[in-house]
Amino acid sequence: MTKLSEVLDVGGQTWSGGAAFVEGGFCAVEDAKISVLDLGVTRSDCTYDVAHVWRGRFYRLDDHLDRFFAGMSALRLDPGYGRIELEQILHSCVSRAGLRDAYVSMTCTRGRMPLGSRDLRTAHHTFYCFALPFVWINTPEKQTQGGSLWISSIPRIPPESVDSRVKNYHWLDLDRAQLDAYGHGADLVVLRDASGAITEGPGYNIFAYWDGAWHTPSHGVLAGITRRSVIELVEESDTRIEQGPVSAEQLRGASEVLVTSTAGGVMPVTTIDGHPVGSGEPGQISEDLRRRYWARHRDPAWSTPVRYAANHADPQSPAGEDSSP
Ligand code: PLP
Repeated sequence: MTKLSEVLDVGGQTWSGGAAFVEGGFCAVEDAKISVLDLGVTRSDCTYDVAHVWRGRFYRLDDHLDRFFAGMSALRLDPGYGRIELEQILHSCVSRAGLRDAYVSMTCTRGRMPLGSRDLRTAHHTFYCFALPFVWINTPEKQTQGGSLWISSIPRIPPESVDSRVKNYHWLDLDRAQLDAYGHGADLVVLRDASGAITEGPGYNIFAYWDGAWHTPSHGVLAGITRRSVIELVEESDTRIEQGPVSAEQLRGASEVLVTSTAGGVMPVTTIDGHPVGSGEPGQISEDLRRRYWARHRDPAWSTPVRYAANHADPQSPAGEDSSP
């Protein structure tokens, strides 16, 4: 197999639709393929993470890598690369895609067992990643109006079965709920656990504001990096934040509601099950959180510049550009 250093050094070619790293080499994202026999495909036996690049800087890449490595360790997966190599590969994907605003996904699957084997311990694990143009759950235009949320009756897979803190591809409950939500005219959906408590949605955590405090579920959810950012921003503004059970009634009665994700940031919700949240427009406190979230993207405490290779496209920021979407 070619050494990583040799592959990383090869430059020149850029793939503006997205660049991937798979089977030890880089390629256009459309050409990235894994085997139909991969246990990631046949059993969703894998973990993944999604980071993002905004205006040429990774946001909290270390936190994403910490979560990815913790997930792989929980599932006894080995990507075959160390953390520094993995970071170099991610930077190189963004550089090769020539992107300043990117969605950067990394996955490690159980991979393939030798033909005839059914012993998971014999599997050779697969690592792949890719950088795509930034993906929005709700576009910035949509965020200024606010999203419509449906509270699903489909229960979330219990975390005792599939640990929600290990980011995973067990999305059939989420996808079924999302399809139901479309049928009810909503673009976002949130699922409850067996006790009826609100958990999370397909790709996002949820926050609700009532009685002078923000509330966010803490059980049966992914510890989202955007969720963590919002918790910190709320604490910075000396507002109370409660991490614990949230009922459907509390969510419906909240004066402000928002969902958080790497794919879109802090996204206000203005209707729940067809009824307005508060005034029916994005609230002041949500807007303030959203503004401060994006401002962090140019702060070196939270972001690191992409190491663009000189021989790839040179996506320099125009002078004076700010970080709001
Ligand atoms: N919950 C689930 C199920 C997710 O898949 C995601 C992200 O994809 C999130 C929450 C939000 O996490 P983050 O803020 O790290 O993107």
